[in-house]
Amino acid sequence: MIGHQEVNLLTNYIAREGVAISFYLNTDGSERARSIWDIETKDLVKKARKELDGLNIGRKSVEAADESLRRIQQFVSMENPAARYKSLAIFANSVEHFYQIYWLPMPVKSNLVIDTNFYLRPLLAMLEEHYRIGVVLADSRHVRLFEVYMDEIIEHHDFALKAKPARKPLLETFMKREKRLMQRKEEQTRFHLGSVAELLKSMSANRHLDKIIIGARKPLGDHLARLLHARLRNNLIGVFEIDIHAKENEVLSKALAAERGFELDEERILLRKISVEVEKDGYAVKGIKKVVEATQEYNLQVLAVAEDFSQPGLVCTQCGMPHIEGAACVCCGGMLVQVSDVVYDLVEEAVRQGATVRHIRGENLIGSLENIAAIIKFKKGELVQLEETAETEI
Ligand SMILES: [Zn+2]
Repeated sequence: MIGHQEVNLLTNYIAREGVAISFYLNTDGSERARSIWDIETKDLVKKARKELDGLNIGRKSVEAADESLRRIQQFVSMENPAARYKSLAIFANSVEHFYQIYWLPMPVKSNLVIDTNFYLRPLLAMLEEHYRIGVVLADSRHVRLFEVYMDEIIEHHDFALKAKPARKPLLETFMKREKRLMQRKEEQTRFHLGSVAELLKSMSANRHLDKIIIGARKPLGDHLARLLHARLRNNLIGVFEIDIHAKENEVLSKALAAERGFELDEERILLRKISVEVEKDGYAVKGIKKVVEATQEYNLQVLAVAEDFSQPGLVCTQCGMPHIEGAACVCCGGMLVQVSDVVYDLVEEAVRQGATVRHIRGENLIGSLENIAAIIKFKKGELVQLEETAETEI
């Protein structure tokens, strides 16, 4: 799983020696055969070798880069990824012994980039769209914490250790005999859940958890939910029933189902909002042409795109701005090259501009929005109109 710190490391990486190689491979099994990945990798590596020859870097760097490329190619030919992975990203610099592999849950455009820092736009776009979720399992005495991110799961064993043991019941010496067993047990459980909620608060800040899911038997789960700190309670996206000793796989599938349910609600709300705005010619546009236009005007706030939507187009070789037609980049005048699917570039550019991107998987309404639509920040001519009105008023 790609951790918050690893993302920071990649983002801040600058090769002092050698070159930084970023490799992306689309391994989406639904449309592509395994032999295609091999061929595609071979082609990308071949192209990269040619590029290396033309670079003015020392022999040592070239040899190290060659080693990285060989390693990448070998990895691709050996590996048999789980079906849920749609792409692979490898970041490497052999001179500095840097080599990191990530299997990713969304498809990307296959690409190999050689530079002094890593090419992270596709990765960052994907990270941006996923929540880092803390899944807390609890019973009356135990607790476990898992982190789920981009369809992967890890357990944080230190969480269970940090949870305080249940305190002895209050006034024990005093009322020992009088107190009924039930009552004592209730008190213990409440104390335990309270300390879990407390611990979760600090843990979620440390781990940069965006959302929380609770797994516990009824009514314990709902009770823990009420004990959560306000910020965490607002980020709670699901409570499900599960045994405290459940296997990691079961926790993952239940957590993903809860996440999916939450996303479906989000999708529905977003698309309704876009439809209403489009209908009244307000703050939204639909269709690839208008969305690309809004992107070129830095006018995107939220981009919604059907998961399987693709569209050929053009991309600026200088600034990466996507286009549907034209001879030169409308933003910088740079040269445009054809790409088989401009949607990847559009998504990357949207994230770079700070817009939220949502790939729509389950909501039918996206069809009536021509598979791609966006909430925009401003309408054309809006500001001029405002000024004119102000002037007439004077
Ligand atoms: Zn440009």
